[in-house]
Amino acid sequence: MHNKTIAELSRGLKEGKFSAVELTQHYLNRIKKHDQQLNSFVTICEDSALLGAKAADKALAAKTAGPLTGIPIAHKDIFCTQGVKTACGSKMLDNFISPYNATLVEKLNSAGTVMLGKTNMDEFAMGSSNETSFYGAVKNPWDMERVPGGSSGGSAACVAARLVPCATGTDTGGSIRQPAAFCGITGLKPTYGRVSRFGMIAFASSLDQAGPMTVTAEDAAYVLQAMAGHDPKDSTSANVPVPDYVKGLNQSLKGKTIGLPKEYFSELPKEMMGAIEEVIAVYESMGIKVKEITLPDTHLSVPTYYIVAPAECSSNLSRFDGVRYGYRCADPQDLQDLYCRSRGEAFGEEVKRRIMVGTYVLSAGYYDAYYLKAQQVRHKIAENFKQAFSEVDCILAPTTPTSAFKIGEKVDDPVSMYLSDIYTIAVNLAGLPGISLPMGFSGKLPLGLQLIGNHFAEESLLAFAHQYQQQTQWHSKAPVNI
Ligand code: GLN
Repeated sequence: MHNKTIAELSRGLKEGKFSAVELTQHYLNRIKKHDQQLNSFVTICEDSALLGAKAADKALAAKTAGPLTGIPIAHKDIFCTQGVKTACGSKMLDNFISPYNATLVEKLNSAGTVMLGKTNMDEFAMGSSNETSFYGAVKNPWDMERVPGGSSGGSAACVAARLVPCATGTDTGGSIRQPAAFCGITGLKPTYGRVSRFGMIAFASSLDQAGPMTVTAEDAAYVLQAMAGHDPKDSTSANVPVPDYVKGLNQSLKGKTIGLPKEYFSELPKEMMGAIEEVIAVYESMGIKVKEITLPDTHLSVPTYYIVAPAECSSNLSRFDGVRYGYRCADPQDLQDLYCRSRGEAFGEEVKRRIMVGTYVLSAGYYDAYYLKAQQVRHKIAENFKQAFSEVDCILAPTTPTSAFKIGEKVDDPVSMYLSDIYTIAVNLAGLPGISLPMGFSGKLPLGLQLIGNHFAEESLLAFAHQYQQQTQWHSKAPVNI
């Protein structure tokens, strides 16, 4: 059952081959059996999931079911879920039960999905390895000694291990695409504003975007369909019509052009390059043209991101002060002591590092030199893409420079950790959609291919991804022994 796609599961439910309760129970059993090892879930919602599945069975019997009715899902623990702990990987929110649902959760609930639980993540989504979580590291199901990527590492690991058919993630600098690549699944970061951020705990508000993490691009189309759309509760959500992503999957791509940014290929390891060359051959055989392009300011994206993201996070995280909700230190002497000790005791090292950098770059006297400059460079990076999309329909690149690294390998070296997002960050700075798909292996570890689209071009991006998956089998490979 757990090797089926969402479309297959949906058909099985509609044809009465199995019930939503049976399906939910099957996945809950898998979580119980395998997740102690993986640590991909932080909360399991067994009772409410079974209730949700019962409601789905009723809708199926009444023939009011949609394509996602009865499909199990897991939400990254960054999304507020009413009555369920929402800790965002942090001791700061370890006691926080959300009083409301994020819009994304609300939308997926009304589409009939059944929430099995909440997934582990880097603290406040800051990280590329899931090692900064207060709840401990997540293991990569392909090799338990390696990281699953971050910050949506829990979501990537549980989908890869087939503990759930789909999960949600968020991507500020690569946190959907990089873990999708490390775990051999499909992860889509939509255009900034495509999916509401209401109820999604903010890290860097001008970059954060939620998206689906699934086994196939077709599954991603189903989940995005239910997530996307304007939300009056989020002033940055885009009021742009939502196309039929599933219908768009088979649109003709003949004669379209893929661009290869030369800056992304200069230092790639041989096996990664080999895998990319095979992907190019597949697209060429489909009648798609491929040409070299340039994104000349690529080298500036990591330094720019590490000014903009910490600046925004230092402001967003100022709300966690020990006064209103979240962690409060014991016996504060005065207000200053309450602030200092609550924050000092509850935030982890990486979060503190970002707050310090962010406060510094925003401070009087340094603002112009750092933050303002970074905004100008960000604009140039976006212009690079604009120029590229005047020549090509889609951009092809690796998702990461390497396959999954070892747990502990980079945790004491922040700069080397930051560089693992070198191919994903520019996409967030420009607000573009990007998708990562499995494209092969290095030994037993999956390798990720990234496709980048123009603003709101998710429909064609998904078509490029889906049609590649029709020609290849990488997406259907699952880790053995799980
Ligand atoms: N790894 C990047 C960071 O640490 C991106 C995180 C993300 O996309 N949430 O900031």
